[in-house]
Amino acid sequence: MAHISLYRRFRPATFDEMVRQEHVVRVLKNQIEKKEVGHAYLFCGPRGTGKTSVARIFAKAVNCENPKNGSPCGVCETCRALSEGTLDITEIDAASNNGVNEMRDLREKVQYPPVTGKYKVYIIDEVHMLTDSAFNALLKTLEEPPAHALFILATTEPHKIPATILSRCMRLDFKLIPAEDLEKHLTGILKEIGKEFEPEAVAAIARAGAGSDRDMLSIAETCIAYSEKLTYEGVTAALGAADFKTAAKLTEAMLHGEMPTAISETEKILSEGKSVGVLLRDLLELLSRIAVAKTCANAEKLLALPKELFSRVKEIADGADGRAILRATEILSKTENELRFASSPRILLETAIMKISFPETELSVESLVVRLNELERRLAQTPMPLEAEPAAPTPAPKRTEREPEPEEPFYDAPPLEEPVYDAPFEDPFARAEQPPVKRQEEKPAPVPPAAAAAPAESMTAEVAFGKFMRTLRKTSRNGVLFTMCSDLIASYEGGKLILTTEGETVFRSLNREDHRKIMQDTFAMIGVTDFEVRRAQDGRKDNADAVAQLKKNFSNYPVEVK
Ligand SMILES: [Zn+2]
Repeated sequence: MAHISLYRRFRPATFDEMVRQEHVVRVLKNQIEKKEVGHAYLFCGPRGTGKTSVARIFAKAVNCENPKNGSPCGVCETCRALSEGTLDITEIDAASNNGVNEMRDLREKVQYPPVTGKYKVYIIDEVHMLTDSAFNALLKTLEEPPAHALFILATTEPHKIPATILSRCMRLDFKLIPAEDLEKHLTGILKEIGKEFEPEAVAAIARAGAGSDRDMLSIAETCIAYSEKLTYEGVTAALGAADFKTAAKLTEAMLHGEMPTAISETEKILSEGKSVGVLLRDLLELLSRIAVAKTCANAEKLLALPKELFSRVKEIADGADGRAILRATEILSKTENELRFASSPRILLETAIMKISFPETELSVESLVVRLNELERRLAQTPMPLEAEPAAPTPAPKRTEREPEPEEPFYDAPPLEEPVYDAPFEDPFARAEQPPVKRQEEKPAPVPPAAAAAPAESMTAEVAFGKFMRTLRKTSRNGVLFTMCSDLIASYEGGKLILTTEGETVFRSLNREDHRKIMQDTFAMIGVTDFEVRRAQDGRKDNADAVAQLKKNFSNYPVEVK
């Protein structure tokens, strides 16, 4: 038995069997029922959306003696004659018959009345392929058509049709078919042919069809031939697309800067024989879905993914930084453009993946922001290292040198409920009325609580700041803010508490509205109302700090203050 493709086998015979396009179908049905059929129609829309199918049904329906609900009945004499093939319905593929001679031929033949039905129908597919002179010849016919002539022009590129032709046609636009309708259609067909299937597999095929019923069915055909049962694995293998789960793992690793995982996943996918180009496309597609899931409230509907896949996409989107997604997309798109000139695509791809998962290699503002946000994300996820058991190893080794030892009293303060002034320590430098020195270098020894009481009025800058830090730690989960604050140097200027930093980034970040609000609230809790974060070189501050710092840094040299 000769093989008939699914698309031909399941071509709709009536309007009701059409997959979507109800807006077009409704217009045509009404015209048939009211017997107000025009002479020329232009069907526009992407390929595989049903233009030719609708044209054929319409051609039969206008001729049917007894149309049912606007569709050909299929049993009357005319319907039977038409389905056996007659001269009354002529299909012309303009892609191969685009000359003026074909159109002149058509002009002559259209004058003869139809053999069986009422109308002589010409379906001209890919009409935009006609030459200029062929269009002119067609125009002559459209200007004065015989009463029995009906023209259906179909095109994927309506902008290439001359305005003179457009103005004589009734234009109907076909739309891409949503994945869920394609899925439904394919499920029906699979049940009819008795093929076992996994719903995920059908969803994957529908997605690959990208809105075109014909494309979907031709993909389905390949996948059906691939294995006994239609499985998701089988479909991804037959489509040559990298498996979603692996691609998702790779993408997640990239976005979180986990380079070893990203590289090993890439190796794994490529060693399975996927081409670099296919993998790149898969990653870009996945990233665009992640971006949609990140930004759109109705992402689930927009993406039309199977539930499991969507929840995975959503999970990645929620865990990733928006800028990181954008940055990854930009880098991969650039790589895709460079791919055709590359002698070793694999190296190009791996470099791109390293670049994405290792923003440290770049010093652009974007990569720095991505790094900062990733740091914030990790801090928010893991319990703060500061709260770890004193004896336990600190989970984030990078931070250890910047952070005080757990037993250091400055941070290991008693709970806030205890009287505020009962701090278990007091900064020795503050008590000695020395200029404040960076705490990092000077680790104050624990002081018994009894020695620490100090009235609020005479609270030194260091003490006030110590209280602030303890309160901040208790009340805010913002680890980055805490880390940035721990480097500040506190002093008083009049009644105002001045916090100084040397870093431009820290300075700007702390003056950001959200950070400032947290600091303000925290200070309010310890009774400090006026404070300001300044940069060290602002110069307004007493430069005793700077001198002390200089003396310390250049202890081998004499430092003279002039
Ligand atoms: Zn009929």
